[in-house]
Amino acid sequence: MLRARRILSSAALALVALVLLAVATNRLSKARCFQLVGEVTCRVDTTERIVALTFDDGPTPEGVDSVLTTLDRYGAKATFFLIGQHLERSPGQAQRLLAAGHELGNHSFSHVRNIGHSREFYAAEIARTSALLRAAGQHPRYFRPPFGRRLIGLPLEVERSGLRMVTWDVEDQPERFTDPARFAEDILARVKPGSIILIHPMYRANETARAALPLVLEGLRQRGYRAVTVSELLKREAA
Ligand SMILES: [Zn+2]
Repeated sequence: MLRARRILSSAALALVALVLLAVATNRLSKARCFQLVGEVTCRVDTTERIVALTFDDGPTPEGVDSVLTTLDRYGAKATFFLIGQHLERSPGQAQRLLAAGHELGNHSFSHVRNIGHSREFYAAEIARTSALLRAAGQHPRYFRPPFGRRLIGLPLEVERSGLRMVTWDVEDQPERFTDPARFAEDILARVKPGSIILIHPMYRANETARAALPLVLEGLRQRGYRAVTVSELLKREAA
């Protein structure tokens, strides 16, 4: 009896340890500014009032139309992290973004969680999208992981393909703020000099983000911030 109880309690302990490990691994995979291997950039240390504006997903014609018009109105430049699958469908949208002076980054090919796959899988996700970006006229430099998720395999392949892992320190929270003004205020309240802002404006469901973008840009302007591409922000990095 006693022995059975002991085995049972060790099994329970092992289970608790496994659950804790799973929780820790899950949190680690989402960390914005920390990575187990290789380097990750989530912001830049500077006192200058400058931020990088980044948009994830797509491209979609309606997303590009809306964002390009708003950015143009405020004279702001941004980096668009595009999904290979969408790029393949609408290569013309990538060219429009480049022609307007914006920058394009790699956001994987199929936008799945990049955890627990083989190194070959990550390599293909990166290479296929980089090839499409090159065809559109962008020499790819940056990779943004779908859902911000990465552990070891993805960072290693990103580094091997000569790209830099770029996350963010301020992200939109559409699930909390459905009113464009509140959505924009929430972002502006967290912005600091050197921030990398992430907004999702591309799909039909992202209407709040598109409506909030002029408010975000207006708020940045009022606070004396300039919105630029990731490349432009990274020039402020200490050597
Ligand atoms: Zn994404």
